[in-house]
Amino acid sequence: MRRLLVIVLLLGLAACAGRPRYGLEPGRGAAYPPDLPRGWTGACDQPAAARQAARLNGGSIDTLPVAPFGHAETGWRAYAPLTAYEVGTRCPPDSAGFAEALARWKAARGLAYDGAVDDRTLGVLKGAWQERRPFLMARVRKEPCPEPPAAGALEQIRPDESHYGKPILVRADALAAYRRMAAAARRDLPELAQDPLLLTIFSGFRSPEYDQSQCLAQGGCNGVARAGACSAHRTGGAVDIVLGNAPGARVDTASDANRLYLAKTRLYQWLVVNAARFGFVNYPYEPWHWEWVGERG
Ligand SMILES: [Zn+2]
Repeated sequence: MRRLLVIVLLLGLAACAGRPRYGLEPGRGAAYPPDLPRGWTGACDQPAAARQAARLNGGSIDTLPVAPFGHAETGWRAYAPLTAYEVGTRCPPDSAGFAEALARWKAARGLAYDGAVDDRTLGVLKGAWQERRPFLMARVRKEPCPEPPAAGALEQIRPDESHYGKPILVRADALAAYRRMAAAARRDLPELAQDPLLLTIFSGFRSPEYDQSQCLAQGGCNGVARAGACSAHRTGGAVDIVLGNAPGARVDTASDANRLYLAKTRLYQWLVVNAARFGFVNYPYEPWHWEWVGERG
């Protein structure tokens, strides 16, 4: 029995010796992949491999053809903040630290053990992001579109919380969470005080009838940018938040240029890291669209 234990221990040590050292802390991040990944020849090559992946990412971030949401885009910079948060790094997207964290994340999901962002990786990241949205997952399961909340569950937001003061209703519990989140953002980002429109809400509850009429009037429903007849806004828990706008664009313009502009703002990057604490998740194609899913207990 003791001999068996010694053999098992020796085998374990031998296996560890050949693996790249990734400095994982116990209980955090992904487990080591079961085998030494192809192309990663050992612990000494690991920093070079991460630097190489970082160079690849630096080259692809604005040029790689991708289509995580079915719409052809150039580059993945608009998804870089969510990607960094997902893989657990604060490092910039063209850094070796980012590549290392991404390599671990990919390996734990059966993808290539490298730190490169590619279309397939974005597809798997998208799955992780979308699974956080119960409204969407219910749609995927083909459950019926939810009924709008009772009128008593909705609350009118204050004029100073509303984009140009327009009357907007939001579910009372989601509104309370939004207020806590907005206060925390203003504490962390004092520059928000220079533009009182930032962080205001430009859309909250929308009745099914309203969405239907918009859908008919504008066409293009059920695409990536128009949820159409069954929108998360009918729950009263979805809020569209002003993050700014690219020159010539509106706060909700779904052009690649505007979405990229918004993804680069400090406010969006703050929300990506902090909104989950207040129970909000983002629809990654629309940096302004946040759904309240309840705060963690
Ligand atoms: Zn929205």
